Amino acid sequence: MFHGRTIYIKRDDLVDPDLSGNKFRKLFFLLNTPSANYKRIISYGGSQSNAMASIAALCKRKGWTFLYITKTLSKTLRDAVQGNLASALSDGMQLLEVEHAAYENVIRSLYTPTPDSRIASYEGDLLLAQGGADLGAKAGIKVLAQEIQQWREEQHIQKLTVITPSGTGTTALYLAKYMEETKVMTTALVGSKAYLQEQMSSLESIPDNLNILETSKKYHFAKPYKEYVEIYEMMKEQEIEIDLLYAPKMLLALGEKMSEIEGDILYVHSGGTKGNTSMLGRYKRKGFFTP
Ligand SMILES: *Cc1c(COP(=O)(O)O)cnc(C)c1O
Repeated sequence: MFHGRTIYIKRDDLVDPDLSGNKFRKLFFLLNTPSANYKRIISYGGSQSNAMASIAALCKRKGWTFLYITKTLSKTLRDAVQGNLASALSDGMQLLEVEHAAYENVIRSLYTPTPDSRIASYEGDLLLAQGGADLGAKAGIKVLAQEIQQWREEQHIQKLTVITPSGTGTTALYLAKYMEETKVMTTALVGSKAYLQEQMSSLESIPDNLNILETSKKYHFAKPYKEYVEIYEMMKEQEIEIDLLYAPKMLLALGEKMSEIEGDILYVHSGGTKGNTSMLGRYKRKGFFTP
């Protein structure tokens, strides 16, 4: 129940024990790649990223080395490594910390290596963009779309709106592409709506059935908000643990739009709950959460 209405939830958070929800979908093409095709995966991004932890689990299964580049860790995190970072390190991830000022250059040099690049490239390397925003992600999201379509037919659902939050927008974009008759609604978590559109367009043109919602209040990525924890607890009472980075803003945006949505609503739960331990710690320090 959400705002007095029943919404369906696709429990994609349970799709794999180690790879979180939509990261399993986005990395599906690599799960199905023979181990011998690569030796090492290189990626980059935030130090508590869900994608990072999932790529680490994937590489462990495949026997690939995983090199991850991030900005110098905060002292709090270094003193008590937890959440996705702890999980990725225990899966054997090699972490390369780069000072903030040099980070952009180091990432750029991954794409256009020069003889003095900090990271040497070898045969058997695969470079994955931040958050797994890769064309290869299509394959797994297509399977997700097919599962939703099949469920929809079984339930005889006429009008369906699928809701899923966006980081890079890869999941929402390909879901909309593969479900032309379904409305897909998302919201931008990292940066503005314009930035999300730009990110999506760099993969493929944005289809008409994809709608990017906004919330009346602005929220910054990975910051704790009282409204977020309220929605988290409301869902928890209904025995569903949502992630604290993406889901709350999406559900707030949905709440604002809800009265205009006809037919049934399906929320795709994309996992990410492993990152909750570190987020809940921050909420507790802020006094927002007192169980
Ligand atoms: C990574 C992630 C997203 C964002 O997925 P994109 O394909 O990058 O838009 C949304 N929700 C959760 C829980 C995630 O881990």
